[in-house]
Amino acid sequence: MSIIKLHDSHFKPYISKQKIEEIVQKMVKEIAIDCEGETPIFIGILNGSFMFVADFIRHYTDDCEVSFVKLASYEGTKSTGTVNELVGINEDLTGRTVVILEDIIDTGNTLQKIYDIFKDRNVKTLKIATLFFKPDVFTKALPIDYIGLSIPDEFIIGYGLDYNNLGRNLASIYKITTHKMTNIVLFGPPGAGKGTQATRLKEKYGLIHISTGDVFRYNIKNKTELGILAKSYMDDGNLVPDEVTINMLEAEVDKTPNAKGFIFDGFPRTTSQAKALDAFLAKKGEIIDGMVALEVSEDLLVERLLERGKTSGRPDDQDEEKIRNRFNEYNTKTAILKDYYAKQNKYFGADGVGTIKEITVRLSEIIDTL
Ligand code: AMP
Repeated sequence: MSIIKLHDSHFKPYISKQKIEEIVQKMVKEIAIDCEGETPIFIGILNGSFMFVADFIRHYTDDCEVSFVKLASYEGTKSTGTVNELVGINEDLTGRTVVILEDIIDTGNTLQKIYDIFKDRNVKTLKIATLFFKPDVFTKALPIDYIGLSIPDEFIIGYGLDYNNLGRNLASIYKITTHKMTNIVLFGPPGAGKGTQATRLKEKYGLIHISTGDVFRYNIKNKTELGILAKSYMDDGNLVPDEVTINMLEAEVDKTPNAKGFIFDGFPRTTSQAKALDAFLAKKGEIIDGMVALEVSEDLLVERLLERGKTSGRPDDQDEEKIRNRFNEYNTKTAILKDYYAKQNKYFGADGVGTIKEITVRLSEIIDTL
């Protein structure tokens, strides 16, 4: 599970499906004991409580009735303070044991409204059960009989709770995260112009550019252990093993902990590198915002690389067979990453043929929307 984006905000996993299940079952047990010999009427407060009510009722094996009231107080991530009753209660509650099922109680404004609604209904007993409770912001002196879990004052979504109507369908709870970085995977086959564009984009957006190829070449030049290990793979146009590359990439990112974000150039190149990158960023509460790809046909690229080889001094640019092998590695191991990011709606292609300036404009237009 990783960070998700709804509207303009990011949310990270917070309370798992299993944990929710445990809490609900515990609440069912407790309430069933207190309602022994009665046929309680459970009243869910819509919209947020529908999943909680469904799961609660499924586990409640004694006789019971179920109804709903629809109240609303939220706009975006802020409680507006005024609670409106949109759908009221039709049942005769005289002499009944009523148990309110709330998904979350925070300021207590909704709870106040609930007490107001039910005070003239001649109920025998009114009990309040809430799955989540935020004690830090609760301002009322009203009783709450059953609390599933107390949580700090953080905006949560999922399991019925929404952010501007999205997120109710998530099976677990997520909390809002101040994801601060802009992290871009600059993608494309060898010779597509990633390095050239990254140099321009990092200036424009104040991002750190990490080219794994450059880091390897630096290590080869300085004859480090890493360089010696990578050289044989690189010279033949093969990929360096994932483990080596992933460790190196993580160390590079950790060199600038306060970066505004990163342009990853030449990484990830395999699915396991992409997964490792996601997991690594998730630990920091960060994500990849998008894969920005330079789309250029292979024939054009071989010519470009051979031309570059005349001045770059790179052994892997000088021999057509090695270049073909790099494309083979790209086509068999790397190109599939387009699907990996497309599935998350994070793939953005740009025509990589044109002047350097034209292409920077195309890429910037994409980055500005991320
Ligand atoms: P580049 O400068 O990006 O074309 O990379 C040159 C060479 O460095 C590649 O052909 C690989 O041998 C190695 N390399 C760079 N990035 C990676 C990576 N993410 N995974 C494996 N090998 C890499």
